[in-house]
Amino acid sequence: MIMERNDRARWLQGPSAVCSVPPVANNLPWRLVLLGAPGVGKGTQADFLTQRLRACHLSTGDVFRSAAKRCDCEQTPAMRQAQDFIKRGSLVPDETVWAMVRERGGCLHCTGGFILDGFPRTVAQAEALKAYLESENLTLTAVVNYDLPLDEIVARLSGRRTCEKCRAIFHLTGHPPKEEGICDNCGGKLYQREDDRPEAIKVRMEAYRKSTAPLIDFYERLGLLVSVPAEGAPEDIFERTVAALTGGPSE
Ligand code: ADP
Repeated sequence: MIMERNDRARWLQGPSAVCSVPPVANNLPWRLVLLGAPGVGKGTQADFLTQRLRACHLSTGDVFRSAAKRCDCEQTPAMRQAQDFIKRGSLVPDETVWAMVRERGGCLHCTGGFILDGFPRTVAQAEALKAYLESENLTLTAVVNYDLPLDEIVARLSGRRTCEKCRAIFHLTGHPPKEEGICDNCGGKLYQREDDRPEAIKVRMEAYRKSTAPLIDFYERLGLLVSVPAEGAPEDIFERTVAALTGGPSE
């Protein structure tokens, strides 16, 4: 079933904005964290999972990109500074990221649930999230870790194209749009992210290895980790994810 696409205004713009599609309240909302190196396909899987589980896709990278599009006068100094880290491929400081997520705490309470993508990315962020969820009596359902060899990841990143309007993700060879340079969903223009250039990719991989990979152990110890091999077509990875989350075949 195709759902109306939510513009995620509350997440992307901040707590005073109202989302275009109200959440479908769920007695047992899915509250997931997606882990994996940049380019492993978390964003694509988050899109699929949003459709199937009806939980909102909360990507910190999308918040930064959406802030970057606003005019200078609408940006906080911290947000402006964050753009410099991102262009280089470095991680944004934990305090900036946490302040941004904390401000959007309402999205973590969403009755439709959430799929966190790109956050937490360091142990300090994971600790902050854990303490916040505990204080609010919210529990994570699971943490999905996508596994993929490094050379495959680099190939994926360099061919990735993103829609500047609805942020749908395509790939030049793996998932090409029907018409070159144009989004299948909304007709928006597709572009290559600045941080998908080779120099930035190297820095991002190193940041992942040093700062984010330790989260695998962190969530393993909490008994929340579900590992999913991220080889193959996006649809197959998705079916593997659903099977891993529900403990059986997805259909
Ligand atoms: P990727 O496709 O590399 O996983 P994202 O779209 O999640 O990237 O994020 C893009 C960039 O935004 C990151 O390379 C990083 O600079 C910054 N960023 C996003 N989320 C975080 C975070 N939780 N902590 C620090 N930096 C972040």
